[in-house]
Amino acid sequence: MSLEKYQKKRNFQISPEPSGKSLDMKSSEGPLQYVIQKHRATQLHYDFRLELNGVLLSWAIPKGPSLDPSIKRLAMQVEDHPLEYGGFEGVIPEGEYGGGTVMVWDKGEWTPESDDVESALRKGDLKFTLHGKKLQGSWVLVRTRGFGSKADKSWLLIKHRDKFAAEKDIEEEEPRSVLSRRLLADIARDEGGNVEKASTGDPKEGSRRLTRSADRESTRKKRVKR
Ligand code: MN
Repeated sequence: MSLEKYQKKRNFQISPEPSGKSLDMKSSEGPLQYVIQKHRATQLHYDFRLELNGVLLSWAIPKGPSLDPSIKRLAMQVEDHPLEYGGFEGVIPEGEYGGGTVMVWDKGEWTPESDDVESALRKGDLKFTLHGKKLQGSWVLVRTRGFGSKADKSWLLIKHRDKFAAEKDIEEEEPRSVLSRRLLADIARDEGGNVEKASTGDPKEGSRRLTRSADRESTRKKRVKR
């Protein structure tokens, strides 16, 4: 695995994204990093990343993950990303590769459910457990038949049936950054991005009001507990 493709696509003089060229690579010992970045680029999508062998394996999921085991979400495999990318939240300048606003939507660790991850990836059937702030429990990525040059890049992300399976729309109900609690529009505003474009990736006003009252509710409950 190499970051050559990642580095070729980007100009680090212009983009604030990590170059992946730093020598102090995190050791591969200990828990494996998992992150999902919500990315309002040309199209809104969710970048699903799993640490393996010193890089982040990456898939772009147009609709984001679903907690409902009956719903399969298309996941297009993209170039490996550097480990430091997992902490990146900000704005990629317009005109650059992936230009737009990036949010750390979920973060945590992952555990493969098979001993031989490389062979599971080759077979196109990777089962794993997520220990994130929003996503938990057992999931699978299965390779599917794609078209043309994307033939071997198309996968489906599916939730397994367990106690973390649910029918709620997690993208609508939990739209904020797990790092900063910001919405995409907040990040764009803070970091000099296109606020109007970013806001089209946030839930519409009606559901945002619901989210805000849910936030207030959980704050109130915490206060009551103390
Ligand atoms: Mn992306």
